Amino acid sequence: LTQLYTPLNFLGFVYREIKHALADMERMFGLLDQGAEVADKPDAACLRADAASVEFEHVDFGYNPDRQILFDVSFAIPAGSTLAVVGASGAGKSTLSRLLYRFYDAGSGAIRVNGTDIRDMTQASLRRHIGIVPQDTVLFNDTILYNIAYGNPLASREEIIQAAKAASIHEFVMSLPQGYDTPVGERGLKLSGGEKQRVAIARTLLKNPPILILDEATSALDTRTERAIQDELSRISRDRTTLIIAHRLSTVVDADEILVMEGGRVMERGSHDTLMRGNGRYARMWAMQASQSDDA
Ligand code: ATP
Repeated sequence: LTQLYTPLNFLGFVYREIKHALADMERMFGLLDQGAEVADKPDAACLRADAASVEFEHVDFGYNPDRQILFDVSFAIPAGSTLAVVGASGAGKSTLSRLLYRFYDAGSGAIRVNGTDIRDMTQASLRRHIGIVPQDTVLFNDTILYNIAYGNPLASREEIIQAAKAASIHEFVMSLPQGYDTPVGERGLKLSGGEKQRVAIARTLLKNPPILILDEATSALDTRTERAIQDELSRISRDRTTLIIAHRLSTVVDADEILVMEGGRVMERGSHDTLMRGNGRYARMWAMQASQSDDA
């Protein structure tokens, strides 16, 4: 029995950490206080994939039965490519990421990963394949090391430092009085918006998922930081299937496909060049952004 104790205790630890990480994701999506909406089917399969394609097929959705939010949304993100979604506030962009992460099920239509309906897989296995860099990263009252490792209880200190280096936050951490053991969060050191995003990038690198959701921050960072973070994000999204919820048009130029959403509907789609040539909504958004920066 004592031989069993250590592995069982360890499994208990991993289980608690994973539960914690899911709670973290829910908090990121602002959903913690909502009841569980979805349940695994008894015969749900376990998703296991190194690469993943994502497909939305005629998806309708509403948070409440009396108000439909998405109308007949279809798109495909082949494995390794990038889809960016733009549109005014409230158009339904973030709702797409919540459905892909399966906080809710589509009302009608289907969402597939590698051809399998996500309702036929376990939520835990689906979510293991998805990394999220959210708008605003939640930091816990613990060390910076713990905060970077968050969601990956098995990471070694060496791996954590590697991820921090790749996310360009290592030097900042080393400049802190206690290095990786510096307390951060509400009761510790407060990090800037850019530093918090780098923590989120490092967390994602540690998780190493085939699917990425990048929910771009609405709050403005200074231009240099923003450019550096965009470079890091495009580095981590290379070779991963990426859904970008974009608030700035500059982020979407290199996407393989761009969706322009309005009132829960896809109004235009195509590459940056195609959409600019089409001279429709997307081209008008660029013209508007250009005139705003002229004013500034
Ligand atoms: P933004 O650019 O401001 O982040 P968005 O395009 O991402 O906006 P969503 O967050 O997808 O928009 O929201 C789409 C619509 O769904 C909005 O009208 C919003 O009020 C509504 N909505 C979002 N979350 C919920 C919820 N939990 N319950 C009910 N309605 C919601």
